[in-house]
Amino acid sequence: MITLRQINELRQLVQCWHGKGELVGVAMTMGALHAGHLSLATAAREECDRVLATLFVNPLQFGPAEDYEQYPREEERDLALLEESGCDAVFAPSVETIFPRGERFPTDSRTLVTVRGITQGLCGRSRPGHFAGVTTEVMKMMNITGADVAYFGEKDYQQYLVIRAMAEDLFLPVRVVACPTVREPDGLAMSSRNAYLTPAERARAPGLYATLCQMAAALRERGAGAAAGLVASGTGELLRLGFDAVEYLEIRDNALAEPGEDTAAAALRVFAAVRLGQARLIDNVAVEPEAAQA
Ligand code: AMP
Repeated sequence: MITLRQINELRQLVQCWHGKGELVGVAMTMGALHAGHLSLATAAREECDRVLATLFVNPLQFGPAEDYEQYPREEERDLALLEESGCDAVFAPSVETIFPRGERFPTDSRTLVTVRGITQGLCGRSRPGHFAGVTTEVMKMMNITGADVAYFGEKDYQQYLVIRAMAEDLFLPVRVVACPTVREPDGLAMSSRNAYLTPAERARAPGLYATLCQMAAALRERGAGAAAGLVASGTGELLRLGFDAVEYLEIRDNALAEPGEDTAAAALRVFAAVRLGQARLIDNVAVEPEAAQA
């Protein structure tokens, strides 16, 4: 596996692969890798001739009071894991390479890529500017890597839809693919931020997934008309389970639209972001199991 830090080196490598007619897949990450990230590389390995991963903590997607400085950075370990997962090359640029004008926030950018509408609610409401920071950086990475297929996790379902919309609207020559959320044995969605949890908080954390699953099961049984009542009782349940705050708990359809009374229950998904100690945890559960939707 080769580790590259310069844009031109990566471009040459991918050009060489494309010259041989090879299909290139990419898994974009911020490092501190876990099995969820590696599942993206594994999916790419199954479908593509060449697998790229990116390791880059994107400053633009962190708000001023967020954890950009504290975010775990473990490059040596990450590179070993990516090699084991069958990656051919890793792009791990410096922050100056990607943001040569010293940009720290989306408002610092001369050119900003913004998806409207679906970025407004859920994580977009609690993290203003977050998705513009994501799409601006992901657009750069799409342009630099030139990958044919890009793999994103359903754990960040809104982010996946936003990136898919950007790729579609800007005619990017890339296929955006969603991969199922990888969970700990007790149901907690794997996340680099789980490392912020104390042992006592970690023991409470699976209650998030359990609550979302209960809500999804109730929607399956009672239909979209039950949504408002379920959100109220689910919020109470999360607070009772010891989460410090419920940033949002919402039921939307698979395109993030607010459901009406007659929306098919099978098209619904339950989304949440909660605070637990130093960590902000997000998760989402589809009413219809993921395999059945495909
Ligand atoms: P991050 O490093 O947190 O920016 O995540 C990089 C990519 O890995 C994104 O596409 C995430 O959605 C994906 N990802 C993170 N956690 C998981 C997980 N538990 N299961 C599947 N994909 C994940």
